[in-house]
Amino acid sequence: MSEDTIFGKIVRGEAPADIVFQDDRVTAFRDITPQAPTHILIVPNKAIATVNDVKPEDEETLGHMFVVAARLAEEEGIADDGYRLIVNCNRDGGQIVFHLHMHLLGGRPIGRMVAR
Ligand code: 5GP
Repeated sequence: MSEDTIFGKIVRGEAPADIVFQDDRVTAFRDITPQAPTHILIVPNKAIATVNDVKPEDEETLGHMFVVAARLAEEEGIADDGYRLIVNCNRDGGQIVFHLHMHLLGGRPIGRMVAR
């Protein structure tokens, strides 16, 4: 089992967050340090540490994260102009919180895809 993180506590309602969506599979909440006008984190309720830990049985939940991302982008009014979805993995990917999450960033041009 994955180690518990702040995101696990948010999923369970044990830590505060600005939750914008939650169902039985995923939770979405605003990033505490937003990098764009819209910066939402979409996380599986199940604590999967990194993309390296994804199992075939997680496929439905991970696919659902995209469905939720599209719905939230629509609700945020950024769907047509566009946005970026980011999933970081481990040190070189820049992952800080070890509970798999998808960043939904938009509301301005997000810029270069990767740092040089
Ligand atoms: P990572 O680099 O792991 O992909 O991104 C982690 C993100 O989680 C960062 O953008 C950071 O601002 C956000 N974050 C870290 N701690 C908290 C927290 O307690 N609450 C919320 N809402 N976001 C957090």
